[in-house]
Amino acid sequence: MDYKVLYRKYRPKDFNDLVGQDHIKELLLQSILNNKLSHAFIFNGPRGTGKTSTAKLFAKIINCTNNFEGIACNKCVSCLSYEETTDIIEIDAASNNGVDEIRELRENVKILPGISRYKVYIIDEVHMLSTNAWNAFLKTLEEPPKHVIFILATTEIQKIPITVLSRCQRFDFQRISSEVIFLKVKEIAKKEKINIIDEAITELSELSNGGLRDALGMLDQLSKLNDKITIETLNNAYGLVTNKDVKEIFEVYKKREIKLLIEKIDNLNSKGVKSEVFLTKILDFLLQELINYKITNSKEINNLEQLILDLEECYTKKNKYLMIKTMILKNIEDLVTKYEVVNTVVEEKNISREIISNEIQNQINLEILNIRVNNSFVNANLNLKKEFIKKWDELTNYFCTNGETKYLSLLKNTKVEVVSPTNVLISTKSYSNSVLFNLICDEIAEKCKKIIGDSIKIICLDEEQWKKVKSKYIKNKNHISYNYIEEPILKKDNKAINNATNIFGKELIEIK
Ligand SMILES: [Zn+2]
Repeated sequence: MDYKVLYRKYRPKDFNDLVGQDHIKELLLQSILNNKLSHAFIFNGPRGTGKTSTAKLFAKIINCTNNFEGIACNKCVSCLSYEETTDIIEIDAASNNGVDEIRELRENVKILPGISRYKVYIIDEVHMLSTNAWNAFLKTLEEPPKHVIFILATTEIQKIPITVLSRCQRFDFQRISSEVIFLKVKEIAKKEKINIIDEAITELSELSNGGLRDALGMLDQLSKLNDKITIETLNNAYGLVTNKDVKEIFEVYKKREIKLLIEKIDNLNSKGVKSEVFLTKILDFLLQELINYKITNSKEINNLEQLILDLEECYTKKNKYLMIKTMILKNIEDLVTKYEVVNTVVEEKNISREIISNEIQNQINLEILNIRVNNSFVNANLNLKKEFIKKWDELTNYFCTNGETKYLSLLKNTKVEVVSPTNVLISTKSYSNSVLFNLICDEIAEKCKKIIGDSIKIICLDEEQWKKVKSKYIKNKNHISYNYIEEPILKKDNKAINNATNIFGKELIEIK
């Protein structure tokens, strides 16, 4: 079936109609205006980006006897016979790729043009010429008669012999942006009275992958299938992946629902969604997410960048759907979201107070612990606390954003309880977490200084301890004043760390 009716109907009449490729239009116009025409051009670029249309328009303009500033007059003999002229010769190299065809062409170029100034040969898919055909062609290309101009069009420039490239002026056509395609499709749909909703035009523009011809081809086809073109219509016809689809997949990914995730991807595959289309769609979506994270500075998950990089890799792989699934599963393993953190691993191990040996408990210097608890109450006030809570959230976000899961796991389920100008007292649900926290509390304090700009000493109590401290404070508040106590300088003891490492695993107690 030929779906190119609309594309033909709306073929540009002059350079102003030509969509996209402004730099090429500009250069070609300059060469016309300055009367510096090359005798051989090569138009390189993806399909449907306007190579042939540009070539034909160019041929029309240079043959117009009254062209004014690069615009064909549409009145002269050459312009009027433009549609059926024998002076513009279009050859499809895909089907005329042999030596015989080129020999014939070689003879033909000698014959003068019928009514125009130039004979313009437009050779499409020129990379399909056989080696012998190229060899036969080379001489003509090198010294063509003055009345001949060659325009070679290709989607695969790398297959063109260097000897040919060096004899041609080269133009690289770019994919047309979806925004530009959107506007063109909308304009044509309106003229043709085709009922299509904007959302469907957006999807169609993206699906066409920068080729206007494909976009209009789809519009043509869809308009014959339905009176009203919606997302649903597109979905049925081309196996579409919608924004909703990729959003759902990302949600499921964040929740680690592996079975559902694979199901959703397989579903797209069996619906006939091309893997490249899916990749482009999901990468666009993830990139937007990443930008949002960066703007709001509140990253929900730790490894979005990695996921994007890994999925990008899939373009080059043979079995893309398989790779996509593998990459997503790989990233799920490293996934840490803002709300559930590695610490759950510790909880799952169900480390109880008894498991932690007395030895470790003794290593966490009780003297320091008590001093810090005391100092937290010296000139503590509510405003300081409110401010610090914000900063504590900021710090959590920072660890999340930067994938520092070790700290993140410790900060999880902590609560800022008391804040003084010099100290902060934190509480946490589990005893094991408080032990771990205090083992590296000075390291966390360093991070505070670096990231939120607060120079403070931190101590962490588990809920039970905190309750005791709190009631003691309330009881004493009216008759005992808390005074600041200087901390003794202690030698760093690695024994505690080693012991803790044995219990919790190295990944959680990684001390510099
Ligand atoms: Zn004319």
